[in-house]
Amino acid sequence: MESQATLILIKPDGLKKSLTGNILTRLSETKLEIVAAKMVRVSRELAAEHYQHLKDKPFFEDVLRYLMGEFHDRRKVMALVYWGPGACAKCRALAGATNPEEADSVSIRGSYGRITTRGVYENVIHVSAHAEDAEREIKLWFEPDEVIVDLYPTKNVVESREKRAWL
Ligand code: UDP
Ligand code: MG
Repeated sequence: MESQATLILIKPDGLKKSLTGNILTRLSETKLEIVAAKMVRVSRELAAEHYQHLKDKPFFEDVLRYLMGEFHDRRKVMALVYWGPGACAKCRALAGATNPEEADSVSIRGSYGRITTRGVYENVIHVSAHAEDAEREIKLWFEPDEVIVDLYPTKNVVESREKRAWL
């Protein structure tokens, strides 16, 4: 099987509930390689771009607020790229169904997810659905140099913009 990449997000509820170690341990069962990882403060623009396929749904606004951390008092998610044969399918199998009530009870979402009284599926992780989604999402969340393997073609650009540096 050919190697592919998948984007994993540990969502704000997963971080707030201190599930990071647990989730990473579960995902290590896949024997995939972690090729990128970072903490991210999620802007509305990033959340909306990530969930663009849901923009006409009645719950779109709540799903944005969920990913932005507004329901868990800290704007942060952990973003990782897993790489290896069948990465999307393997990670989605461990994650379980989108609706945590329907997810297999030993899956990550089945074990730790909940449906809030607002009706949001707080399902602790995101996993890219398939290779095409993974490519779009990884390019959205990561710069090429933040990933330790060359997943997709790149180009060189010259940038001259102000940025913060350590004092
Ligand atoms: N979601 C929700 N209610 C729904 C459908 C989706 O709250 O009826 C949320 C849920 O957190 C889900 C996210 O929106 O993970 C993205 O939905 P998608 O259909 O892409 O599911 P996923 O790929 O995450 O399984
Ligand atoms: Mg999806």
